[in-house]
Amino acid sequence: MRTPFVAGNWKMNKTIEEARGLVAEMVPGLQEVTSVECVLCPPFMALMPISAMLMGTDIGLGAQNLHWEEKGAFTGEVSPGMVKEFCNYVIIGHSERRTYFGETDETVNKRTLAALGKGLIVIACIGETLSENEAGQTAAVIERQIYEGLKNIPAEQVINLVIAYEPVWAIGTGRAATGPDANRVVAAMIRPALRELYGKQVADATRVLYGGSVTGTNAEEFFSQPEIDGALVGGASLKPADFIEIVRAAAL
Ligand code: PEP
Repeated sequence: MRTPFVAGNWKMNKTIEEARGLVAEMVPGLQEVTSVECVLCPPFMALMPISAMLMGTDIGLGAQNLHWEEKGAFTGEVSPGMVKEFCNYVIIGHSERRTYFGETDETVNKRTLAALGKGLIVIACIGETLSENEAGQTAAVIERQIYEGLKNIPAEQVINLVIAYEPVWAIGTGRAATGPDANRVVAAMIRPALRELYGKQVADATRVLYGGSVTGTNAEEFFSQPEIDGALVGGASLKPADFIEIVRAAAL
């Protein structure tokens, strides 16, 4: 049995004051749902104050990225140890980082290795672009992202890995995949790759999320799929009622 998992990726939204307000609005509703692992991922600046607000709750806190080096001359970067001071989770390889900031499978791999080595739970994002999808390259892209992104990661660390399947064409577009289509990608491409790398037991135990225009209205369509264990939510994670509805829909 895989525990349902819902994470909210706030992207570059909310000042500290706004973040505090949003969390204060969300916490009571989120805390009513005890069977879902729920994680908020605000911008770096808000991690410290929000970690204080979440103390004593079951709600997790995640960063949206980190650098693979622990310290040194890397201006503008944040290390795994710095993230670990406030968080137990980190998103790695989001398509916006791949598209706008030159993230590659190789740098995703370095960040994932460093984060897992620090004991962080990694939400590793994979997914094909629209042109790759239309060219029938989805399987090749997903497999490449998994094999390259998880290179040298030992099976015993995969317990701290959550995969987010996020078709790039569905992110922030209001055009979500269908539940059955997303389920098919997980069943036919993601779990078989995990099985080949780590064996059946690990592949069956690994949480795989869907991400891409998930809302309170369509969440159930994804969570009713046998291979989908939750969601990585962008836009709707900034709307308290919507996000709480998504978390409720994920409950066992
Ligand atoms: C995301 O940012 O990971 C995401 C899925 O965004 P949205 O829910 O807005 O499509």
